[in-house]
Amino acid sequence: MRQWSRAAQSAGLSIGFVPTMGALHAGHAHLLGTSVDHNDRTVLSIFVNPTQFNQSADYATYPRTWDPDIDLARSLGVDAVFAPPVEEMYPGNGSTRVVPGPIASILEGVHRPGHFEGVATIVVKLLNAVRPDRAYFGLKDFQQVAVVRSVVQDLDVPVEIVALDTVRDDDGLALSSRNTRLSPDDRAAARVIHRALSAGMHTHAQGSRDAAHIRGAVAAELSAEPRCRVEYIEVADSRTLAPVSRISSPSVLLVAAWFADVRLIDNVQLPS
Ligand code: AMP
Repeated sequence: MRQWSRAAQSAGLSIGFVPTMGALHAGHAHLLGTSVDHNDRTVLSIFVNPTQFNQSADYATYPRTWDPDIDLARSLGVDAVFAPPVEEMYPGNGSTRVVPGPIASILEGVHRPGHFEGVATIVVKLLNAVRPDRAYFGLKDFQQVAVVRSVVQDLDVPVEIVALDTVRDDDGLALSSRNTRLSPDDRAAARVIHRALSAGMHTHAQGSRDAAHIRGAVAAELSAEPRCRVEYIEVADSRTLAPVSRISSPSVLLVAAWFADVRLIDNVQLPS
């Protein structure tokens, strides 16, 4: 991988990089298409990273769809796919880990212990392999973008992080590889997440700056759906992700919820 990148770079070509766990959908395609537009070369990585899964069942059942992924990459003009085997990325289990700062201990960090340590470690390893000029991430995983930005800044990794908006299905559900694991009834029920976030945005747009009030509007929608088990509803500062009680700076409204054994996350931004 590094040889390929070196050859491209010594020919003066810029490299864009989109790290994924495969099971590609239109959200990934948005990142890839943007990278293809912005860079001379685009690298896609497909690696279901075991160190970021805090539940082994989630890792075992994570969808893997190699052939359609490669077809999509080809159709979008991706130049290289980096899909290393687990033993190659973590020989002998690999003992060094990248431990991100406090931004990784809140929200997802509380509910998925070790998750961001796994994400930070694999992102640094992939960036070291690919050596891109730019790397593209989706704001669907809002906290992940913040964690990656802080790791790259703190460790002086020479890459520009580009964050792109969430791509949604027609009914508003944020696209996610895990959506394919929802039963038809749960897929229909999962629309409630976007409805609930919209209710929160609406409350904010009507002038409320009280986070508890906004969270209440979200909770009311979610609790109307019996198939939905809420894990958290939070309003946080967009930059630090610290929870806020009053919105006075750009903020983000985040939700994590379960439908049977599938955990979904989503968020919307609330301007101050
Ligand atoms: P994943 O394969 O789920 O690890 O995601 C790979 C990248 O795609 C991450 O940067 C995600 O944030 C991004 N991504 C996943 N779903 C979406 C979506 N619906 N819209 C935009 N980006 C997404």
